[in-house]
Amino acid sequence: MLSNKTVIVTGGTTGIGKAIAARFVDAGANVVIAGRTVETGEAAAEELDCTFHRCDVSEYDQVEALVDAVVAEHGRLDTIVNNAGIGAVGTIEDLTVEDWHRVLSVNLSGVMYGSRAAMPFLKQSDGSIINVASIYGLVGAPAASAYAAAKGGVVNLTRSLAVDYAGDGVRVNSVCPGFVETPMTDEYLDQEQFYEFVRGQTPMGRVAQPEEIAGIVAFLASEDASYITGVNVPVDGGWTAH
Ligand code: NAP
Repeated sequence: MLSNKTVIVTGGTTGIGKAIAARFVDAGANVVIAGRTVETGEAAAEELDCTFHRCDVSEYDQVEALVDAVVAEHGRLDTIVNNAGIGAVGTIEDLTVEDWHRVLSVNLSGVMYGSRAAMPFLKQSDGSIINVASIYGLVGAPAASAYAAAKGGVVNLTRSLAVDYAGDGVRVNSVCPGFVETPMTDEYLDQEQFYEFVRGQTPMGRVAQPEEIAGIVAFLASEDASYITGVNVPVDGGWTAH
C-alpha cells in the first residue's frame, strides 16, 4: 500500500530512522533519508537502496531545500517522518543554556521545520506526518529536562498540527519509543546501573530494537490508519503504563 509513495525520513541514516527507512523501502516506497554526516548517509542509502540528502534539520533553509529537491525528483511527497534527534543528559544546572537551545532546535524546531516545509505537498497528496517523540515526551524522567521539554513539545505539536490540517486531508501522528538500542543510547545502555534502571522501569524487562519502532511508523503512514490523527503512540514495553 506504500508502493510508489514518496517518503522522507530525517535522521534516516542510523538507528531508528534507518530501520524506518528500510521498512518503507521494503514496502515499495521511494525513500529519501536525510542527516548531517555525508559518509554515513551515503553508506546507509547504498545499503538500503534509497537516496541520501545532506540536511541539518535545525536550519529551516536546509529543510526547505530538502523537501523541494525531493518533490522536484519524485513529483510528490506523501509522508515525512520527523525522526532526527539528539540526546541530552543532565539537569538544567548541568546543561548550559547553549545545550538547551541546541536540543530544542534539533528535537523540536526540526520537527516544526519538516512539517512546515512539507505541508503544501502533503495537502496535495492527502499525505501524513509521523514524528518520533519519546516516552520522555509523555512522562518526566531524571536528568532529562531539555530532552523531555523538546519531546513534550513534539507530542503537543503533533496534536495541534492534526487539528489544524485534518480538514486538508493531512494526518499527523507520533510514536513515543521507550529505550531502543541505537548509536544514541549505546554508551548509556552499556553502563550496568543505567541498563538496570531501564529494565526496572520497563514491565517487559528489556529494551527495544529499532525494527520494533519501524512497524508502527509504517502502519501510521498507511491506509490502514486512515482515520487516525493526533495520536502519540507509546512503543515502550509498558514504561508509561505504570
Ligand atoms: P541515532 O542513532 O543517534 O540517530 C540520529 C539520527 O538523526 C542520525 O541519522 C543523525 O545523523 C540524525 N541527526 C542528528 N542531528 C541531526 C540534525 N541536526 N539534522 C539532521 N539529522 C540529524 O538516534 P536514534 O536513537 O535512532 O534516535 C532517533 C530518534 O528517536 C530521535 O528523535 C530520538 O530522540 C528518538 N528516540 C530514541 C530513543 C532511543 O532509545 N534510541 C528513544 C525514544 C526516542 P547525523 O548525526 O549525521 O546528522
